[in-house]
Amino acid sequence: MVEHPRRLELGFLPTPLQEASRLTRVLGGPRILLKRDDQTGLATGGNKARKLGYLLADALGEKATAVVTMGDLQSNHCRMTAAACRMLGLEPYLLLNGTRPAIPEGNLLLDAIFGAKLHFVAIDDATAVDRELAALADRARADGHCPYVIPMGGSNALGALGYVDALRELLRQSAHQVDHVLVASGSGGTQAGLIAGAIGQSRPPLIHGVSVSRTRAKLEPRVSQLVAETAARMGAVPPPADRVLVHDEYVGPGYAIMTEACRDAIRLVARTEGILLDPVYTGKAMAGLIDLTRAGRFDRDETIVFWHTGGVPALQVYREWFVDG
Ligand SMILES: *Cc1c(COP(=O)(O)O)cnc(C)c1O
Repeated sequence: MVEHPRRLELGFLPTPLQEASRLTRVLGGPRILLKRDDQTGLATGGNKARKLGYLLADALGEKATAVVTMGDLQSNHCRMTAAACRMLGLEPYLLLNGTRPAIPEGNLLLDAIFGAKLHFVAIDDATAVDRELAALADRARADGHCPYVIPMGGSNALGALGYVDALRELLRQSAHQVDHVLVASGSGGTQAGLIAGAIGQSRPPLIHGVSVSRTRAKLEPRVSQLVAETAARMGAVPPPADRVLVHDEYVGPGYAIMTEACRDAIRLVARTEGILLDPVYTGKAMAGLIDLTRAGRFDRDETIVFWHTGGVPALQVYREWFVDG
């Protein structure tokens, strides 16, 4: 019998931790470091590599031959799942929320190149998600596969363990006390894993989730629930409620809808550090970091880690926002 590891190494870890000294200077301090999870690998990188390390180890343990998951048309999670499946000899089935465009671009182009089985549906309510995922799993079975279903964004307690490891990786890497960590928060698993990873650390950083879709009132309970489930898996006691912190002022009109602040943040980081952010997640999170810094939310002598979670393939789709450079 083949024993499968609890976690697969799908990406290049540890990712670099990089000083952003020009950005720090432009914003007038505090000290900003960048944690480069846009460099995890898996077809241009991103945060899902860490979650998939646990989820796909579980899939192999369950003798799955296919993986079923879902996301939006420009889902980084779907693109990285497709890439990881190809590395492992699994068949990727992707449920994409929207209609099939005539010409695929961004992440969807990469899904097509990986030969993922693509199913387009317009999903308007949350109950439809589970139903559609189950229907796609049935299709995989009809194709002769044994499917493993991963929830949207890979955000369950098992996936969040990838970010428990990531927080510890950061603390091992950093020569300085890290006071704050800022991360884009969508389905909440990344933020929840980071919060759970800080349990038991002597001077844990405060983890700020910058929402890219939900209101604080909706996202905070979701993250808290995931933290509790992740802590339970670790055999740890969840932290007090005030460790779960969400900023919802930078979403703009909605998920994946560009804002001027996001566009300006992308330009600023490109022009000070030579680093690309993305239009859906990290651009909005950086807009949050810029605004919170200017509002005096951080002390000048504090250290902030901005977690770069990837997403760069989607930039092309937003090219009309950059016609003037
Ligand atoms: C999925 C994703 C996030 C958000 O992670 P969640 O765990 O869903 O909150 C952030 N940035 C990028 C680039 C992503 O693809």
